[in-house]
Amino acid sequence: MKIAMVGSGYVGLVSGACFADFGHDVVCIDKDQSKIDRLHDGIMPIYEPGLDSLVESNMRAGRLSFTTSLSEGIKDASAIFIAVGTPSRRGDGHADLSYVYQVAQEIGENLANDAVIVNKSTVPVGTGDEVERIIADTGTSQKFAVVSNPEFLREGAAIGDFKHPDRIVIGTEDDFGREVMREVYRPLFLNESPILFVDRRTSELIKYAANAFLATKITFINEMADLCEKVGANVQDVSRGIGMDGRIGPKFLHAGPGYGGSCFPKDTLALLKTAEDYDSPTRIVEAVVAVNESRKRAMGRKVLDALGGLEAARGKKAALLGLTFKPNTDDMRDSPAIAVAQTLTDAGVKVSAYDPEGMEIAKPLMPDVTMCSDPYEAIKDADATVIVTEWDAFRALDLGKMKETAKAPVLVDLRNIYTPADVRAAGFEYSSVGRV
Ligand code: NAD
Repeated sequence: MKIAMVGSGYVGLVSGACFADFGHDVVCIDKDQSKIDRLHDGIMPIYEPGLDSLVESNMRAGRLSFTTSLSEGIKDASAIFIAVGTPSRRGDGHADLSYVYQVAQEIGENLANDAVIVNKSTVPVGTGDEVERIIADTGTSQKFAVVSNPEFLREGAAIGDFKHPDRIVIGTEDDFGREVMREVYRPLFLNESPILFVDRRTSELIKYAANAFLATKITFINEMADLCEKVGANVQDVSRGIGMDGRIGPKFLHAGPGYGGSCFPKDTLALLKTAEDYDSPTRIVEAVVAVNESRKRAMGRKVLDALGGLEAARGKKAALLGLTFKPNTDDMRDSPAIAVAQTLTDAGVKVSAYDPEGMEIAKPLMPDVTMCSDPYEAIKDADATVIVTEWDAFRALDLGKMKETAKAPVLVDLRNIYTPADVRAAGFEYSSVGRV
């Protein structure tokens, strides 16, 4: 089966490469010429573990190709995926659907065979209806159906998630749509991955409900962490204690600096806007968004406390270890590190940083931060070292070397990756999240 993937970012490129690996003939399309040129040269435009070899082997096998031409790329494709960005619209937080609609228009104008148009981008309820209308309005004579197929992969573990998903959600009321989607995901049917067929609007909402629920779980445990600090309890034990309850589950109960990334912040906001538009407020999600927003700067203030308070902190130096919103990605979108660094520089603190993959993208977002080539260079002469992202490289830092390199042995661990007793025994002043 021939598949076209419009948009070759985190989702489009990973999905395209995985579909090719299943044996489909895939063309990934992107309007960004430099991205396509780099892919032709075997250079990945993003950091995602295992992606380079997956792309390379499927290109070599002739199943995966790249182009900037949508009309060429979609020719003979039975399934045309839309996997372009849906960022927050500036000003009001609604999902910006202009990229999706532009692609729909182009598909309609260039459709040369019957095809199913599959929306993989995260889009508000009703977007599928609009995509269908846009394509129909181009006057195309080809048979087409518009299907919703939201993506649930996690950056950093994207290939595994795509190939072994907890579930695949397909939203369509159309027989042609259902038939083509069964063929697209046949290799996963065989893997016994559960496939949930629902109507299109339900499918669109499932994606937002899933992300809002996960964001709620994170925010809930973060508030419990604050309470733990006040009452002298340990949030990691609270997480374990509640997570062992099968009704709650252990995942997404790690207290930290607040959720960030390319999905949760924008998707929770977009859900609020949908709820508002339909006069059906989602108060819990409203609280989650507000609590998470204030938390990021609160983490910056935690570092200021470790530096001796707002007054004493001025002129001191803090070293940030990890900048991306989570490990194993170079994605800096809405990373808590941005607000932490901003809070520190606003208070006159000099900030240095090291991240294994995110520094190039982080540089323009944090112009006042000095980027360093390894953790110890960042730590040099620092009055406090802050673990912002739990990259494996930071899990076993040489505490002795850190003590010698830094100006003061002060460690703020926003990810709880160290054991307080060990770090204190090594002579550090140590603070973490939800533990005393
Ligand atoms: P991205 O920004 O990494 O990639 C989008 C790509 O689309 C870019 O390369 C851009 O150049 C291209 N593009 C935009 N307009 C185009 C056009 N008219 N023609 C061709 N290409 C065009 O975005 P992403 O992170 O891959 O996210 C895509 C969608 O998937 C979003 O709706 C997002 O919410 C959703 N999603 C993302 C993730 C994730 O972890 N990143 C997970 C699940 C769902």
